[in-house]
Amino acid sequence: MKLAVLMILGISVSLGDSASTPEKATPPVITQAQVDVWTKSWQKRLDLGEWKITTQIVRATDLRPDTLGNLRWNSDNKSAVIKVLNPLDYDLPPAEIPVDIEYTVLHELIHLQLSVLPHDGSSKMVEEKVVNRIGEALFQLEKGPAYHSRTSLAKNYIKPRGNNEASRSKSAPQ
Ligand SMILES: [Zn+2]
Repeated sequence: MKLAVLMILGISVSLGDSASTPEKATPPVITQAQVDVWTKSWQKRLDLGEWKITTQIVRATDLRPDTLGNLRWNSDNKSAVIKVLNPLDYDLPPAEIPVDIEYTVLHELIHLQLSVLPHDGSSKMVEEKVVNRIGEALFQLEKGPAYHSRTSLAKNYIKPRGNNEASRSKSAPQ
């Protein structure tokens, strides 16, 4: 009798899953609280306490094409806004999305760390390489040596436009 009940429950659960996922696996829901925790913890580790940093979860239309995140900063009032891509618009397997978003937060915070250097636009490619290497190193310390961000494997790189802006591309300069 108990077994029969369990089987019925199992069927209803799987029916519920398929009804809510018409074409692909449901992406994980990333909450504002979660990105705030990632932002605060990496901000603390990078000793960026003097900055007021806000992280927003945005749709792909709010980012440049083929980017996963964006940073804009204001050196005068020490404020910065990070945008990370909503899981709904991600093209990674659902299980890999949360850690990739956390990596985006770290990536943009390293850009913020470098924002005190002169930015005349000539060193963006070099900066992107440096940010990716430091980000990889920090993330491997945090997540273990098996971690490799998608940017470390890719070829192309999207140049941000402004001098007080940085983006995380789906791919990175070699
Ligand atoms: Zn970048």
